[in-house]
Amino acid sequence: MKTAGENVDPAEVAKFDALASRWWDPDGQFRALHDINPLRLDWIRQHTQLAQARVVDIGCGGGILAESMATSGANVIGIDMAEGPLAVARLHQHESLAKVDYRKTTAEELAEQEAESFDIVTCLEMLEHVPDPALVIKSCAKLVKPGGHVFFSTINRNPKSFAFAIVGAEYVLKLLPAGTHEYEKFIRPSELDSWARSVGLSLRDSIGMHYNPITKEYSLGESLDVNYLMYFQRE
Ligand code: SAH
Repeated sequence: MKTAGENVDPAEVAKFDALASRWWDPDGQFRALHDINPLRLDWIRQHTQLAQARVVDIGCGGGILAESMATSGANVIGIDMAEGPLAVARLHQHESLAKVDYRKTTAEELAEQEAESFDIVTCLEMLEHVPDPALVIKSCAKLVKPGGHVFFSTINRNPKSFAFAIVGAEYVLKLLPAGTHEYEKFIRPSELDSWARSVGLSLRDSIGMHYNPITKEYSLGESLDVNYLMYFQRE
């Protein structure tokens, strides 16, 4: 079992550091995160109440999701291990007036300090960038209060996801910078569910996220073949 400081891939964190200044450019390298944000925020709100909730966003980056949850009335802590995106996130909230408490730490470390103290834990588009995703899931289960809500999103691992999420998104359509994702780090929904179940999280719902290259729009739909979201509740 890895200890807190070890579950970070410095090469992954460096990738996000290098691109940090572009985080809030709606037409920049993080455009996809801007485009999917209203969809995932809506889906979270369908399942739980953000107003007054104490929320931690794990791997918050420049704060696209964290800010939108704060604007929806939640008290949000955003954590990340990359300095650059955190600095951009802190600056951006002066413009947007969203209030998020940004901290450089890992889920494992925060879980040591603030166990069972969050109503909602979100960890989106992050698990596929860490050495031990099961350990992050375990830390999320520790952070959330009994009965609380945990949301993950990541990318499935199969030939279709390789074709769509790597070849299509990074090389053909150039929706993401080349090298953003590594196929071996993708996670099957069944793997995510079994890691979550083993730490007391029960699956409540899941949904796919799809990109239509003709309309250039994202939508939520049934198939979990490529990008997907999963919602769990702690027992
Ligand atoms: N969750 C955000 C950003 C996703 S990008 C969103 O969906 O909008 C992935 C983020 O995970 C990056 O900001 C990267 O720095 C962060 N990250 C990678 N490994 C991490 C780790 N071990 N602990 C915390 N954050 C990490």
